[in-house]
Amino acid sequence: MTDESCPNCHAEFMAVIYEVRRVPVQSCQLISDAARAQRYPCGDLRLAHCANCGFISNLLFNKALQEYCPPTHETHETHQTTSNLNGYAEAIVDSWIREYQIRDKTIVEIGCAEDDMLPLLSSLGGNSGICVDVSCEPTQSTDSVKGTIDKIRQEFSTRYGNCAVDVICSGNALQYVYSTAKFLKALRRDIGNDPNTLLLFVVPDAQRILETQAFWEFNYDHCSYFTAGSLAHVFRRNAFDVVDLERCYEDNFLVLAARPSAEATPPTLAIENDRPRTRRELGSFTVSCAETVRFWRDRLSQLSAQQKKIVVWGPVSKCVSFFTTLGIRNEVDFAVNSDPQAAGKYLPGTGHEIRGPEDLRKTPPDVVIALDSRDRKEIVDRLNVLGIKPEMLSL
Ligand SMILES: [Zn+2]
Repeated sequence: MTDESCPNCHAEFMAVIYEVRRVPVQSCQLISDAARAQRYPCGDLRLAHCANCGFISNLLFNKALQEYCPPTHETHETHQTTSNLNGYAEAIVDSWIREYQIRDKTIVEIGCAEDDMLPLLSSLGGNSGICVDVSCEPTQSTDSVKGTIDKIRQEFSTRYGNCAVDVICSGNALQYVYSTAKFLKALRRDIGNDPNTLLLFVVPDAQRILETQAFWEFNYDHCSYFTAGSLAHVFRRNAFDVVDLERCYEDNFLVLAARPSAEATPPTLAIENDRPRTRRELGSFTVSCAETVRFWRDRLSQLSAQQKKIVVWGPVSKCVSFFTTLGIRNEVDFAVNSDPQAAGKYLPGTGHEIRGPEDLRKTPPDVVIALDSRDRKEIVDRLNVLGIKPEMLSL
């Protein structure tokens, strides 16, 4: 147990469930020099669970460490390199427009480095607005297909919440906020009391990470992990009414819709009552996650002893977590990423090179590890086009 209080509900104690030392403080950075990549600033993970609301937080998260090396647009990987995520974002936005009649509205998007929801809301529904994010490329009044979008490069904050907006949306950004209760409280204060204001948030579902012992999803930037119950809790406690909350995209994400309320609201949705399920998962998580880490260390050692040429294919953030947690050195030759911007760069932490798929023609691997099983088919198709038939492993 620790004496840290929960950043999501202020309960007094959180129980530690997982620890890793020395992980890069920015897991999406693409570094142009191997030695500099190996010297990249690191912090520690100490993930802890709150029994009161179900929230999981990195108690050792220190924002000041990240401020020494802020992400930049030029070197920051987006997760839109996989077609799966693009399809998911479009499906979510399409359902939002139909469900809540979001047409010709004014929208603020909080955090837009990963999944830009506003351009989709603009092109599919004729909406306008601003994106606020620390790593976006600033623009002035970019015309989308129908609406107008401004992008503002700034730490996402609630200062834009007090504009006259109809919708505040956020796709995969709230997990990078440490003090989630403080953030929601300030947002609620700033948006006023119009009950028609709509908030639409998407975050990764921590339940899925726990169930699959997906240690490669734990990284320093991602300091907050929401279960359905803990996500609803922080909105309800800070005077929002949660009107809808669903798991989507093979239960990888939570999609929440909320409106301002005069006071805190009680839980009303069945999905919010998930603390017993989370407790059950956590009962075996620490042991089973350690076994998963050991399995991959052993597997890589065996393959390496057999002189196999191994590459790891996946998003940079997952590669950084996988390589760092397992302490990979020479067992893996390099990482593969289909984003042209990533090719020729190096992973922060271990300093492994990132190459594009075409490079595999020159140096065909014996084994390809797909870091996201959802990408496996796409990777196999790409390998077939390249005329390479390595052994495929996926997490
Ligand atoms: Zn809590």
